[in-house]
Amino acid sequence: MDIVYPPACICCGELLSKERLHICAICETKISYLQEPCCLKCGKEIEEDDREFCSDCSTLSRTFEKGFPVMCYEEPISDSLAKFKYAGKRQYSTYYAKEIVKKHGRNFYDLGIEALIPVPIHKEKLKKRGYNQAKILATELGRLLDIPVDDGIIKRIVNTLPQKELDNKKREENLRNAFIYTGKIVEYKCVLLVDDIYTTGATIEACTRVLKEQNIRNIYYTSLCIGKGN
Ligand SMILES: [Zn+2]
Ligand SMILES: [Zn+2]
Repeated sequence: MDIVYPPACICCGELLSKERLHICAICETKISYLQEPCCLKCGKEIEEDDREFCSDCSTLSRTFEKGFPVMCYEEPISDSLAKFKYAGKRQYSTYYAKEIVKKHGRNFYDLGIEALIPVPIHKEKLKKRGYNQAKILATELGRLLDIPVDDGIIKRIVNTLPQKELDNKKREENLRNAFIYTGKIVEYKCVLLVDDIYTTGATIEACTRVLKEQNIRNIYYTSLCIGKGN
């Protein structure tokens, strides 16, 4: 259903040559995969070699175990994610999930991840957009990894405003009560939150707290992209 012919690059939209599936050769070389040193908590690239954590993870409470992002949130992948999120390009999740599995699939098995939990969006947003991009990504990941997707444990109850103008502490406060437990009884001990982009970590942290209250001990997250940090 998602197969569109002839296939076009998920970043620039140019038609692809026969041997290419998702991304053109030019865009592929422009993708900036995360390079060490990375924050030991969230996985964001850090500038100085002598630091273990990025500034957000050193100053704000982080109760998830560890993050597994793949790329820096920059052009051209940022253009692709925008189309994935706002222009109905759900099929892009095939490429994103493959990239995540290529880099971290083994880690997920080693950790014993029992379920993939997509970061929920508010129902108003869902109505407008028609889909939750994190769920689409989680579903594709689940298919590749053969790990079940569970989107029934947490729910977003606050439709938060764009947070760009808020400082990091305010963002955390703003999101603190945005997610709630739905009441679904689960017995997971180890789960993986899934989102398309990790920016400051406020969203992942807020979701983690709700899951922790349900006695899920180990919470990890993965995202295709992560913002440039400090
Ligand atoms: Zn391209
Ligand atoms: Zn960090």
